[in-house]
Amino acid sequence: PCVTKIALVTGANKGIGYAIVRNLALRYSSDNPPLTIFLTARDPNRGQESLRKIKQELKSKQILKDENGNVDIKFLRMDLIDEQSIKDVKQILENENGLDILINNAAIASGIGEFDINVVRSTLATNFYGTLNLCNQLYPLIRPNGRLINISSSVGMLKILSSPELQKEFSREDLDIDELIGLMKKFENDVENNQWIKEGWPSKAYSVSKVGLNAMTKIFARRADSEGKNILVHACCPGWVATDMGGPNAPRNIDQGAETPIYLALDENVVPETKNGEFWRNKQVVPW
Ligand code: NDP
Repeated sequence: PCVTKIALVTGANKGIGYAIVRNLALRYSSDNPPLTIFLTARDPNRGQESLRKIKQELKSKQILKDENGNVDIKFLRMDLIDEQSIKDVKQILENENGLDILINNAAIASGIGEFDINVVRSTLATNFYGTLNLCNQLYPLIRPNGRLINISSSVGMLKILSSPELQKEFSREDLDIDELIGLMKKFENDVENNQWIKEGWPSKAYSVSKVGLNAMTKIFARRADSEGKNILVHACCPGWVATDMGGPNAPRNIDQGAETPIYLALDENVVPETKNGEFWRNKQVVPW
């Protein structure tokens, strides 16, 4: 039976997420079963406008369904800090009988030098807790041979933690989600109590949120392995990309930023090449 494959990309109205949707459509083989890509965004107007733009760009390429291609792209509203919107997305995917490719791309980064408890809370709420909530809701819907790809960053390397104990805790092979949440709460408490430097944290909320995302990736990878559903779970850094977040001086354009995520989402070679739950950059596993 020819079951339609389902992909979902978060924060896809602009930047790297937009390029991920576009390149998923462009690279998806016409020999494969039909693919529906859900372009999600927190703002419906921005999301619908991006959907229109992407469809316009793909016109006359015989990729989209209306031109007898095998790819359909649809918009869904999803805001990582709006729990109901995550539940609504889950419901829609349940109606589709599942999900094959989930790409967690949405994130925020506060301005350079901005660091206080409010920045910590809002950054973690989106990048860490929001992404975790989405994974908790959608992971069970990922079908056998599916893929879960988290867009992280090289600033989320363990070495940004100056405390060896923290490094050890975050990378523990048997760390579970509750313990990881405990570590993130400790960061928040240490900032609140003005002791984060002494405790070995950097003054960078965004970096710590990505350390947490990398640890979360490994936890979901272990879960996937133990369930034996052959679900690939990886994190990757897109490189420094010219977007609203990356700024105008970044050397990579958004299509270049989408390269490694697309490789991890679509390429057949990823599977035998490596164990699950790795951190990737430039299509290669790099030490976390
Ligand atoms: P942009 O700021 O250009 O885009 C971020 C996207 O995330 C936007 O669509 C934004 O929506 C969305 N978003 C923000 N908050 C939420 C939320 N609460 N719910 C849903 N969506 C949300 O960033 P990039 O494209 O540069 O970044 C994409 C990913 O790549 C991020 O995970 C980032 O950390 C990572 N990355 C980027 C690098 C770079 O150099 N650009 C380097 C390393 C990693 P809206 O338009 O509504 O704000």
